[in-house]
Amino acid sequence: MYSLEDIEKEIKNCKKCRLWKSRKNPVVGDGSIDAEIMFIGEAPGKNEDEQGKPFVGKAGQFLNDVLKENGIERGDVYITNVVKCRPPNNRDPLPDEIEACSPYLEKQIEIIKPKIIVTLGRFSTKFILSLYGFKNEPISKIHGKIFSSPLNGIKIIPMYHPAACIYNPALKEVFKNDIKKLAKF
Ligand code: URA
Ligand code: SF4
Repeated sequence: MYSLEDIEKEIKNCKKCRLWKSRKNPVVGDGSIDAEIMFIGEAPGKNEDEQGKPFVGKAGQFLNDVLKENGIERGDVYITNVVKCRPPNNRDPLPDEIEACSPYLEKQIEIIKPKIIVTLGRFSTKFILSLYGFKNEPISKIHGKIFSSPLNGIKIIPMYHPAACIYNPALKEVFKNDIKKLAKF
């Protein structure tokens, strides 16, 4: 059986897209293999690239704080990204990079078998909704909404990206409300 360690080894040696050239460390993911909730971000930023861990910068601190306020510990969930290596200057991941990298994410989902997937931001939302056969819509319209897959019952809850919330007090409140809803659910 394919394990998270196997995926980690593959990612560390991966050269399937151009991003391997500029990365310091790929970011595989972090958290519990038994997690019922999986958070999926976009791609590593500067701090993540340096430490090899997801959401360890400012956006990550905000995410940790909001989770904690709602009784969710980082160690209880699993966190990863659609793209495992940092795009130069934090540019958006390109379609061919997402295509090259996403099989790793699909394997991580197969192994962890989360009950709920929270997508953070538009790239992750677009990819996961399409993976489960849903139509993509603007995050402003579908954030906090629960999509239930008819295939396997997995729940998908799109949310704004924490980095987008940091300097926007209105989005911060929206994000906090969506996490509150997740915690209740
Ligand atoms: N933003 C992301 O999308 N992922 C991270 O890991 C950090 C910041
Ligand atoms: Fe491989 Fe993904 Fe890194 Fe591209 S971003 S080199 S596909 S691990």
